[in-house]
Amino acid sequence: MSAGDFYAVLGVAREASEADIKKAYRKLAMTYHPDRNNGDKAAEEKFKQITEAYEVLSDPEKRATYDRYGEAGLRGGAGGAGFGFAHFDLSEALNVFMRDFGGLGGFDAIFGGGERTRRDRNRGEDLKVALKLTLADVASGTTKTVKLRTLDRCTTCGGTGARTGTEPTKCTTCGSSGEVRRSTRSMFGQFLAVSPCPTCGGEGTVIKDPCPKCQGDGRVRAEKTVQIDVPAGVADHHYLTVRGQGVPGRRNSPPGDLIAVLEIAEDPRFERHGDDLVYDLPVAFAQAALGAELKVPTPYGETVLKIQPGTQTGTMYRLRGKGLPRLGEGGRGELLVRVRVWTPTHLTSEQKALLEQLANVESAPPSDAGSGRKFWEELRRAFGA
Ligand SMILES: [Zn+2]
Ligand SMILES: [Zn+2]
Repeated sequence: MSAGDFYAVLGVAREASEADIKKAYRKLAMTYHPDRNNGDKAAEEKFKQITEAYEVLSDPEKRATYDRYGEAGLRGGAGGAGFGFAHFDLSEALNVFMRDFGGLGGFDAIFGGGERTRRDRNRGEDLKVALKLTLADVASGTTKTVKLRTLDRCTTCGGTGARTGTEPTKCTTCGSSGEVRRSTRSMFGQFLAVSPCPTCGGEGTVIKDPCPKCQGDGRVRAEKTVQIDVPAGVADHHYLTVRGQGVPGRRNSPPGDLIAVLEIAEDPRFERHGDDLVYDLPVAFAQAALGAELKVPTPYGETVLKIQPGTQTGTMYRLRGKGLPRLGEGGRGELLVRVRVWTPTHLTSEQKALLEQLANVESAPPSDAGSGRKFWEELRRAFGA
């Protein structure tokens, strides 16, 4: 899942200038752009990878975070600033390319084709859903089922929009290209202006006798159930894109995508820091003094932690591999167990008598006890900051 080192992906040195990065990306994008590869999956994958790398390295802030913390820092783990980084889908990658290397016009000018713009005009809309998850879902990964109120292909006409027994006919205005071209002259020379055909709306076909069920749209209202696979280790506000599960396009045009925005409910037991979790463990005074074996919750069930005799409040125990899975990297973070010595508030007469007896024989705490500094140092060290 990891795309590898972003510098290597673009084939530039770590000290490459912004201009070098832009140049390297542009060159690669010309080779791997989907419109130049007839929908070749390998090229598409490569195009997404180089665009991800470019998106990060061309932004000084994201680049600095990446240099320091790697990909995890971009997602918000490992002490990084957190840009909610997630892998691109194709339409996002294309948008980045368009944004920096010209809008639709410039893009068409580069590749000399109108195919994608024509398809995109009729492409169905993306659907956005909020996906509520628990920490247990994040720990193990899960599959969620969502119900969507959307449109579905009209079964009466098979999505064509034409009445049964009839067919959409070629648009005579544009000769079924979907575009009209008009050449204009200006003081700078001759230009070719391209716009969608006004007769067919860019589809290249017209429907003379529309399907009565969908009124020629090719879609009808429907409810749909979609399963979304959620990988382990995701974070709040990440989103997952399920390609092709958005609204179907008009008259059998390509569908949009389903975008699930993740909402992760806080687990009151744990504080989350990227892939690491912090748990506060209350310990009775006698247990702290004598040592004890205590139950500690983890996202994977309970575990037993051995508290050493003489444990102070603020002591941190690190349970490796009991934190959350590292998304796309394998392995898990840590569960940090922070000891809090608990002072009883209501004493029975027996407890009171015993404590009074203890008070007569116990030694006074050393003068440097009670400083919280060590704990904060340890916490900072734990998160590598
Ligand atoms: Zn229909
Ligand atoms: Zn037309």
